[in-house]
Amino acid sequence: MKAYYDLHIHSCLSPCADNDMTPNNIANMAVLAGLDIIALTDHNSCKNCPALNDAAIRAGIAFVPGMELCTAEECHVICLFSTLKAAMEFDEFVERSLPPIQNHVEIFGEQLIMNNMDYVTASYPYMLASATSISIDNVAALVRQYGGVAIPAHIDRPSFSVTANLGTVPDFGFCVFESVSRNVDELVSKYPILEKHPLLFNSDAHMLSQIQDKGPWIEVEKCDAESFIAALELT
Ligand SMILES: [Zn+2]
Ligand SMILES: [Zn+2]
Repeated sequence: MKAYYDLHIHSCLSPCADNDMTPNNIANMAVLAGLDIIALTDHNSCKNCPALNDAAIRAGIAFVPGMELCTAEECHVICLFSTLKAAMEFDEFVERSLPPIQNHVEIFGEQLIMNNMDYVTASYPYMLASATSISIDNVAALVRQYGGVAIPAHIDRPSFSVTANLGTVPDFGFCVFESVSRNVDELVSKYPILEKHPLLFNSDAHMLSQIQDKGPWIEVEKCDAESFIAALELT
């Protein structure tokens, strides 16, 4: 079946995202947009995934727990998992790799953790947008250990991307990449490695209106996280 997706969405836990990116608002907006499956990918944290998992079930949309990891080289990598349990275990690992720099709410914004009724249960104290100590060349294998898939994010953006910070699209075991320009021909001619690997097109939404409408899709056996990860791994 065709599954219409948006696999790069930030919640109110990301300092740069709107506070109305609550679990239930995201799930309901994605349903209105006509999507079949969404992922939550906050910077260096999965802590709003349990709430969005519940909200997605209530809204009737499939959910992939995830995170946008910032590597030691300041490359952003979307990490997606087939189960909430695996995502939360990865979250624990990443938390230990994050420098304990206090978040200054007035400068960087709030980092809100919510329950499945959109009530704030905590404010994450350390800056989530910092680079972790995890190196880009280890990410694909590391995420695979947790049964997930790692996707270099917005590879054609001039900041926090592999092309900006490494000068190329590296062959570090990644099987799929994310593009913002969606200019596949130009990217393949510039980076031949992309000939063998598909590109995903997501919104990187930081506000509700940015969640993408029904458009990009992927062929899956079943519309759930496990089938989606399996489909991406086969690419
Ligand atoms: Zn990013
Ligand atoms: Zn992002």
